[in-house]
Amino acid sequence: MIDLTTLTIETAHKELTNGTYTVRELVQAYLDEIKKRDGDVHAYLEVYDDVLKEADRAQAMFTDKTATLLTGIPCALKDNILVEGKHASAGSKILEKYTSVYDATVIKALKKAGAIILGRTNMDEFAMGSSTQTSAYGVTRNPYDLSRVPGGSSGGSAAALAGNMALMTLGTETCGSVRQPASFCGLVGLKPTYGALSRHGIIAMGNSLDQVSPFGKKVSDVEIVHTMLAHYDPEDATSVPENLRVPQGRPGVKKIGVPRSFLTGEGIDPRTLQNFEQSLEKLKNAGYAIVDIDVPILKYSLAAYYVIMPAEVSTNLSRFDGIRYGFSAEGKNLMEVYTKSRGQGFGKEARRRILLGTYVLSHGYYDAYYMKALEVREQISRALRDAFKEVDLIATPTTPSPAFKIGEKMDDPVAMYLCDVFAAPANLAGIPALALPSGMTEDGLPLSIQFMAPHFSEQALFEVGKKFETIR
Ligand code: GLN
Repeated sequence: MIDLTTLTIETAHKELTNGTYTVRELVQAYLDEIKKRDGDVHAYLEVYDDVLKEADRAQAMFTDKTATLLTGIPCALKDNILVEGKHASAGSKILEKYTSVYDATVIKALKKAGAIILGRTNMDEFAMGSSTQTSAYGVTRNPYDLSRVPGGSSGGSAAALAGNMALMTLGTETCGSVRQPASFCGLVGLKPTYGALSRHGIIAMGNSLDQVSPFGKKVSDVEIVHTMLAHYDPEDATSVPENLRVPQGRPGVKKIGVPRSFLTGEGIDPRTLQNFEQSLEKLKNAGYAIVDIDVPILKYSLAAYYVIMPAEVSTNLSRFDGIRYGFSAEGKNLMEVYTKSRGQGFGKEARRRILLGTYVLSHGYYDAYYMKALEVREQISRALRDAFKEVDLIATPTTPSPAFKIGEKMDDPVAMYLCDVFAAPANLAGIPALALPSGMTEDGLPLSIQFMAPHFSEQALFEVGKKFETIR
């Protein structure tokens, strides 16, 4: 029996290399677990039927000694990452029957490395949400407590990993969609530097914010995946060329900054705050200097995000017209096909954001909303750059509370949006951030701390993350 609960990529790689078990046996162990658990959790939208064949192909890489660290590693993908010949729906009815005609660049890399793609996972529709309840294909549940949400929008990928139904999973981040579910499901989640991983073949939500982001049970797993996937891609105009991928931080982390005024907002769970203080204490004991920093502009991050993101959503989603992709409604004329397809194909949250985005980009309001938000974004980036002159990393709780109940916040979009209050600065500024498990509440819900670093300083995050895992 393979113990899937504690398995890491490194251990699996060692055992596969030594022949303790075969790729087929490892993959079968995950398929068995999916069969046993996913009826309750609903992490997967689809488990592919060719995985055992792929397992044999990966096994051959061990035989001919071309195996990489990811060869034979069973992974799962958020439903907005394209895999040639497979469905990708972004959790939306409008893409119900859409089959991808090419591989996303990150998928090409995973396939080349010999990773086994088990299937695609549930998500909030078009990655809009913080709970995986807005999917057109049902709700995903948190494996720690089935009455609670796994977080979102990459909730399916988080639940698959936390439920031992994959060994590594990919999500995407526009504003916390990997760090927040990582926090709710006791996982490590990395939001890489904007432009580090290719966005080619990812169904876009907000192009200037989106980034493919890995989940792992341990920092070392996330580091392996990041190292494998973070490369320049000529297919993506926002991919950063290799020679410009220079860490903007100093080598070696000594000082960690805490933006105190950012943590005093309403609605932060006292258990979260207390756990965060305990984490800071541990970091202090481990030899890091913990200093208070003042970055008052951070409190406008979420507001800026909720202007910029819908603006980008409204333009990105205009391509789904009932003609080019997936779902199409009957209509008397072309206009009716458009309006009916969009009206019936998009869910409520997607429609809300298309309307908001169209509004902030409209002639009379562009300056007042969209331009203003861009200015705030620029100021946030600048303030963070300045802060990183004083400190090596910035720490905050990952989310304002542990996982909430299914059904909660669904009638109150603003309460839902507030889940990402600590996530927004990193996406707006394009800097990397790592969410790490930091303990549990008394009733067994995971809690999490996040560290932000300067552009391309992921290594600093991994260094502190690995240290933090040992001092827990
Ligand atoms: N909660 C954020 C939103 O709803 C998450 C977006 C994301 O990171 N994909 O916009």
